[in-house]
Formats: sequence, C-alpha cells, structure tokens
Amino acid sequence: MRRIMLLLLLPLILSAAKVDYLRWESGMTYLSFLSKNDLPSRPLYWNLDREDQILTEEIYSGVGYQILRDENSTIEQVLIPISDELQLHVYKDNNNSYKFEAIPVIYVTKHLSFTTTIQSNPSSAIYKATHSKRAMSAFISGFRKSINFSLHVQKDDPIVMIYDQKYRFGKPFSMPRLQLAKIRLHGKWHGIYLGADERYYDAKGHEVEGFLLGNPVKGARISSGFTRRRWHPVLHKYRAHLGIDYAAPRGTPIHAAGAGTIIELRRSRSYGNLTKIRHADGYMTLYAHQKKFRAGMRRGKRVKKGEVIGYVGTTGLSSGPHLHFGLYKHNRAINPRSVIQVTTKKLKGAKRKQFQEIVKRYDKEAEAILAENRQIDRESDFDTVCYVKHDKFDTQGEGDAAVRK
Ligand SMILES: [Zn+2]
Repeated sequence: MRRIMLLLLLPLILSAAKVDYLRWESGMTYLSFLSKNDLPSRPLYWNLDREDQILTEEIYSGVGYQILRDENSTIEQVLIPISDELQLHVYKDNNNSYKFEAIPVIYVTKHLSFTTTIQSNPSSAIYKATHSKRAMSAFISGFRKSINFSLHVQKDDPIVMIYDQKYRFGKPFSMPRLQLAKIRLHGKWHGIYLGADERYYDAKGHEVEGFLLGNPVKGARISSGFTRRRWHPVLHKYRAHLGIDYAAPRGTPIHAAGAGTIIELRRSRSYGNLTKIRHADGYMTLYAHQKKFRAGMRRGKRVKKGEVIGYVGTTGLSSGPHLHFGLYKHNRAINPRSVIQVTTKKLKGAKRKQFQEIVKRYDKEAEAILAENRQIDRESDFDTVCYVKHDKFDTQGEGDAAVRK
C-alpha cells in the first residue's frame, strides 16, 4: 500500500507542486476563504447540498490546513480538517473544474504509557515526561473535581498514565483518549478509569466527569444523533452529524447545558441564530437554528447551568423546528452523550462487575509500568503525509493522503 502511494506521488513531485501549511485565521469564513483565493463559490458552496454546506460551518479558527499549488501557483487541492475524522477537500478534477467533498482524516494512533514522579507539581511532571500539553490537561481535568493538587502534592509522589494519542503529519493531534490516570498522595493511590461506556469513574465506580445537563430542551425528542463519520452508500459521500438534534415546538426554551461564558452570538447562514458557550476545561457548547435569543444575551455574558438562553426555531439550513446542540473539547466535536450528567452516578450490578474487571486489568498494567519505570519512547520517525492525485482516491478507505515512513 505504502509503495503504491509513493508511486502516485511522483507526478506531483516532478511537476514542482508546492504545499502551503497554514492556520485558519480567526474570523475567516469558508466563503471568505474561497473569495480570497479566487476559488469559485458556485461549485464549491452554493451548489452543495445542505449537509455539506453545514459542514463548512465546522471549520474552526487556528486549525492547520493545507493548500497544494501547481507550478503556476494555481490551487490544485485544499485540505481543511473539521473534526478528528473528517476534512473538507477542495480539488480540481480531470476536467479542470473545482469540486468539493468531505473525506476521512488519515491518522495513526499510538498507545502510550509511562510513569513519572512529581518534582514540583503534576502538570510539569507530566509535561516533562510526554512533551504534551494535551496529556497534561487530560490528567488535570480528570482529577479536577476530586483532588486539590496544590494542597496535597508532595515531592516524589508517583504518577502513572495510559492513553491513546492520534498523530497526523508526525504530530499529535486532538485530545488523548485517556484510559488510566493514577497518582499516589500521602501513600494512597487515586485513579480514574475509562469505563466500557467511554465515561470516567474512580476505582469504586463513581462517575468523575459529567457536567452537562441531560437535555438542553426539556421534554424534547432526539431526532438525529451524533455521527462522527458515515459513508452514505447511495449518495456515495461521507456524512457527519457533529451534534444532537432535539425536535421541539417553535419557541420552546433552550437551556445552557453548563455554566460558562457566551463567546459567540450571531446569525450564521447554515446554523441560523447561533450561540456558543465556553465552559471549563476546554469544553464549548453550540446551540443552532434558534428562533431568537433570550433578551439580554450577549457576547461575554456569563450564564448559569440551566439558564434559558434562547428559543427553539428553524433558522438557517434547517428542515423544521429543532435545536442542533454541539459539544466541543478543544474545538473538536465530541459526542455530547459522553459528558452528559447522569442521575445514577454510580455503577451497579452487572455494569459494576464489568467495571471491576477493567479496574483490575488497568491496575495490573500500572504495576508493570511502575516496576519497569516505563517512559514514553519519543523516537522521531513518525509518518509523513503527502497528497495523491484525486482520481486515485480509495473513497471507502484511506481517502486523501499517502502515508509513508
Ligand atoms: Zn443537527
């Protein structure tokens, strides 16, 4: 596979194609990006169907994207990631006309584990061991509710972590998927464990996260769930629904899912009347298609959990009254159901039994990590990723890019 991909690259290398690695400027919209780069908006936006148009709204400022140009500096391809799984691909086809599609992001996942001891505080110890601010933040936010590190940490207290990290272009991207984090304080181990339901628990099966309201629209029915990436067999294209839709009558109040600060309040073409709220620990929630905002809501305003912020409507690209509710962690869309607060915060019965097995398995691995003083191997021969010609895409599988060592 790799060899084939490499061969496909040759025409590009020979034709002196050039790749620009860029960061999406704050305030730039997909449409303004097209016009700035003299790309035609009719085939690349106006002729797209609603789902594709909505995906262009998911581009976030600061995301790394790439433009491939030919020897005359004409744009051949553009790749803009919109989530962990999908990226927007603008390209010139064999007839020299521009096309748009959503294609999978190529990444490799590394399973990482290590132990370290604290010199001054957990953050710097983890950063020193991993060189990853993301790993550091995953650890700190996991214990946020249960431990006050500034009060209890002593020098030489040990830490153990097990997590998966995605890499793209040889660099970590997106948040690590933490499986185990342990720390020993005053001789006693504290741990958080990833359960089979992808939620976090302490060793006794008490949930440690879960800060969002169960339902931002009371009594509403979920009309469409969260899908990170789905291949549509009839349309022959990738689809994603990066949020949950709650169907409810026009005018039904919308409640802030958690306490936070309003960072956006505007009319968007795709999402209609749109509110974004920033919460603690890198979380953000999005409320789209509102009929209207509640009076007094504005950017910079702090809201309480459960406070009414607006009313259900069908503004923007919407087929009927509903709330599109999105949850993002460090700008990446995640399934809101993973951090929705549940009423039963403790595992019971068969679920508890199953969880105890998970705890046993991770604790055993943690012992091994401690015994061998395992460190993260930071060899630098990570994969590099390049483009291939569009007509060589394998749309069902690996999509856009060639991965080679
Ligand atoms: Zn939706």
